[in-house]
Amino acid sequence: MGMTIPKRILILGGGFAGLSVAMELEKTLARDASVEVTLINRDNFFLFTPMLHEVAASDLDLTTIVNPVRKMLRYVRFLAGEIQQIDVRSKKVVVSSWISARPRFRALR
Ligand SMILES: Cc1cc2nc3c(=O)[nH]c(=O)nc-3n(C[C@H](O)[C@H](O)[C@H](O)COP(=O)(O)OP(=O)(O)OC[C@H]3O[C@@H](n4cnc5c(N)ncnc54)[C@H](O)[C@@H]3O)c2cc1C
Repeated sequence: MGMTIPKRILILGGGFAGLSVAMELEKTLARDASVEVTLINRDNFFLFTPMLHEVAASDLDLTTIVNPVRKMLRYVRFLAGEIQQIDVRSKKVVVSSWISARPRFRALR
């Protein structure tokens, strides 16, 4: 029995654009076992910038405009890290993350 390698979709950046794409794919492709969708962002949270000024003015608490990305996604995998290189031709992305004391580099295809 041969193993089928899933089709991989990488979303680079988890801001307004990237997270919107991820949340849309949550409802469609990410539920398909033959597709693996991964979102990569340097922070593990989403910041709702349009209300940032209200935090600065002390009208809102910071926690009301910050959402943990993993809580917003179920089928889309999430990787917190710094995207270092994007090689479109070879479909390779190098990401560093700071899970341990030293940076870890991973190449994703
Ligand atoms: C204070 C403030 C108020 C705003 N108010 C409004 C408003 O009222 N209405 C409106 O329409 N727009 C507003 N904007 C603009 C809005 O935030 C941007 O237009 C929007 O965020 C752009 O979306 P984006 O997905 O292109 O980029 P972003 O939302 O900035 O997302 C990019 C993501 O990629 C990540 N990233 C970047 N480089 C790397 C890397 N090398 N490795 C890993 N991750 C990386 C970043 O951390 C970020 O999470 C405001 C902006 C600010 C700063």
